Amino acid sequence: MSSTLVQSVPRSKRTRSKDAAPVIAVSATADTRLGGAHRVRLNSSYVTALESAGLIPIVIPPLASPEQVRAILERVDGVLLTGGEDVDPALYGQDRNEKCGEPNKARDETEIALSLAARELGKPLLAICRGPQVLNVAFGGTLIQDIPSEFPGSLDHNADRERASRVHEVSIEPESLTAKAIGATKVSVNSLHHQSVRDVAPGFKVTATAPDGIVEAIEWAGDDWWAMAVQWHPEEMNDSPEPWDRGLFRAFADRLDA
Ligand code: MN
Repeated sequence: MSSTLVQSVPRSKRTRSKDAAPVIAVSATADTRLGGAHRVRLNSSYVTALESAGLIPIVIPPLASPEQVRAILERVDGVLLTGGEDVDPALYGQDRNEKCGEPNKARDETEIALSLAARELGKPLLAICRGPQVLNVAFGGTLIQDIPSEFPGSLDHNADRERASRVHEVSIEPESLTAKAIGATKVSVNSLHHQSVRDVAPGFKVTATAPDGIVEAIEWAGDDWWAMAVQWHPEEMNDSPEPWDRGLFRAFADRLDA
């Protein structure tokens, strides 16, 4: 083959043209709840929240080959880790207690690989509910396996009500990216979780807590990566009169346009 025909194409650091909307890799789960068939599943509220912020979601299912996520991340602009199953406690060095749900190995491995590759490639990452939990585990942190049984008397963090009901307050660190995104340091949030961050991973800092001390948000502490993670569900607040939750998606979008 003539070498003149094979020209190397310089790889642009940018993965999109200037006018194209950013593309976001959105983690999803797979389950057997519908007709017995294994299906990939993502709550559509995440899609609505991203599109409302000018972002294009592509769904990343739990993969049998999580080492392939680097190839995905080289083609997208950012990552959204979504809510779902409990992370396998073996991944943070604990035995699974009876209140901790069945782990999803493929999803754990895929999302940990997404988290590490996002850091390595400097792709902005937003994480929601299970998101901060798996992100924290990916970088060496630990989780509370079940808030009500481990911390009796704590607030009801798994409120069995409308998903968009604001059920408890959170206090947000004033100088954090999270506070800037939300535009406030004390807000009321929805809450649909029974686990949370226990020991925060090296490199991260706690940026919001509930009145009972439960960690409600973490973010990357350095300025060499943008990673923000909240324990509540801002994607369920697309129609909320308060702008707080949409502010998180707007901050993510602003970072992607930077
Ligand atoms: Mn909560």
